[in-house]
Amino acid sequence: MVGGLETEKSSEFDCVACGRCCYHDQPNYALLYPEDIAAFGPENLAKFTTRSTLSGAALRGGEDGSEIYMRMEHGHCRALEVIPGVSYKCSIYSNRPLVCRIFEPGGPECLEARATVR
Ligand code: SF4
Ligand code: SF4
Repeated sequence: MVGGLETEKSSEFDCVACGRCCYHDQPNYALLYPEDIAAFGPENLAKFTTRSTLSGAALRGGEDGSEIYMRMEHGHCRALEVIPGVSYKCSIYSNRPLVCRIFEPGGPECLEARATVR
C-alpha cells in the first residue's frame, strides 16, 4: 500500500516526483501498528492520524476494537506535502509507518498506483 517515498531517486521511480501511493479514495488507508503509534508520539498522532471503529478494523484492533490510520485529506495522506506537478514529499519520512516503509518502488502496488491515481 502506501508509498515508501524513498529519497533515493531513480529515473523511473522518482517517489518525490510521484507520490501516487499516498493518495487513496478511502478514509482508512495506511494502518498504524503499535510500534508506529509508539514512535509517533502524541503530537504527530493528533496531527496526522485518525481512529476508526469500522467493521473489519474491530477484529484486529486494540482493547476498544479501534484502529489508527493516517488521516486522509484532499484525497491523500495528510502527511504528504504537495506542490502539484512538482513534488510530493512525506513530511514524516523518518517516522513513516511500517506499511509505508515496506512499500517497494517499482513493485506491483507501486505500478498499480502509478497507473490508477491522478
Ligand atoms: S507509487 Fe511508486 S514511484 Fe510513486 S511514490 Fe509510490 S513507491 Fe514511489
Ligand atoms: S506517512 Fe508518508 S509515505 Fe506514508 S502515506 Fe503518508 S505521506 Fe505517504
